[in-house]
Amino acid sequence: MEFGQFNVNALMEITQRPDLVFIRGQGSWLEDHAGKRYLDFIQGWAVNCLGHCPPEVVKALEAQARLLLNPSPAFYNQPSIELATRLTKASCFDRVFFANSGAEANEGAIKLARKWGQVHKPGAYKIITFNHSFHGRTLATMSASGKPGWSTLFAPQVDGFPKAELNDLASVEALIDDQTVAIMLEPVQGEGGVIPATAEFLQNLRKLADARKLLLIVDEVQTGMGRTGTMFAYEQAGIRPDIMTLGKGIGGGAPLAALLAREEVCVFKHGDQGGTYNGNPLMTAIGVAVFDALAAPGFLEGVRQRGQYLSQGLAALAAKWNMPGERGNGLLRALIMDREDGPAIVERARMLEPEGLLLNAPRGNLLRFMPALNVTEAEIDRMLELLDGILATLRK
Ligand SMILES: *Cc1c(COP(=O)(O)O)cnc(C)c1O
Repeated sequence: MEFGQFNVNALMEITQRPDLVFIRGQGSWLEDHAGKRYLDFIQGWAVNCLGHCPPEVVKALEAQARLLLNPSPAFYNQPSIELATRLTKASCFDRVFFANSGAEANEGAIKLARKWGQVHKPGAYKIITFNHSFHGRTLATMSASGKPGWSTLFAPQVDGFPKAELNDLASVEALIDDQTVAIMLEPVQGEGGVIPATAEFLQNLRKLADARKLLLIVDEVQTGMGRTGTMFAYEQAGIRPDIMTLGKGIGGGAPLAALLAREEVCVFKHGDQGGTYNGNPLMTAIGVAVFDALAAPGFLEGVRQRGQYLSQGLAALAAKWNMPGERGNGLLRALIMDREDGPAIVERARMLEPEGLLLNAPRGNLLRFMPALNVTEAEIDRMLELLDGILATLRK
């Protein structure tokens, strides 16, 4: 595709992209180069928790850009301290390391767990992860992920990530040996198809980890920052994990991620962990603005209400079209369909005129919904109406 005087093939091809270029966004809406508008229920893959270009983020970005971009991570800066203070106050964790992506935060979690093993359980380094999990695209996080086909892609893998089955405690117990140091999971498997770990399973993992002297790591890159209706998804199971990672929503669209740990787990020595951009004030100032919007009175209550509203709407759609149903937590939901035509629905939704709809199909028979957390009921209604229309043409 040509775009003005530019050629899209100057970009390395890593995925099939449709022939359009997005120019601007506002709230739940995106606009392309031809002026066509799209109702966005992807939001950068659950990233833009306050929608496109939220005013509080723009304001924080502008103000911080004039003040200080980068003093170097070897010095303190105010926004990173402010955000770390907010995150530790709102969670069961004591300390934060900021990173630039979810994968990088998870790399940090893996390193921290291995280091803890070296200190407290000599010889232990294995981290039990789960089939269908997703932890990122670096070599170690791809090895930790349970995505089908990934064990041979870019072989050899990083060693030490045996895979258990989600919600099957015996499958975890069976993998524990002297070399095991931690258990790592997403409270809701996002990329795997919106599959929640049950509260009971999370509670039993906590007990198992305590009994066998293991760390419990929650990857909340997708579920954290209000996505499931509480600030962090682990809260809903009433457990205290040892390590948590955040990404996606924490920056509201800006590249920011975090590794959090309880004091007794913070065993990094000077030089073990770092990174040029860690905790840079531009991104953490945005993080402060996003956090304050999510923590404002009534906001998370609203997420729970709209999650319920979306859930009911999807359940009604499933009933109407004889589909198995819907599942999820808060505003991370999936419609489980009767056919493998998810990709065809995604394509048709985007091509709708005069306004398109952006949806995601992580599996053939599954549509995933991850709208802005401040999506309105009217926007949910509009999405359901458009989806119903597509199903009517495909199922007639
Ligand atoms: C998206 C995601 C990641 C990877 O985050 P990046 O910012 O893309 O590196 C890791 N874990 C989970 C659960 C995710 O959803």
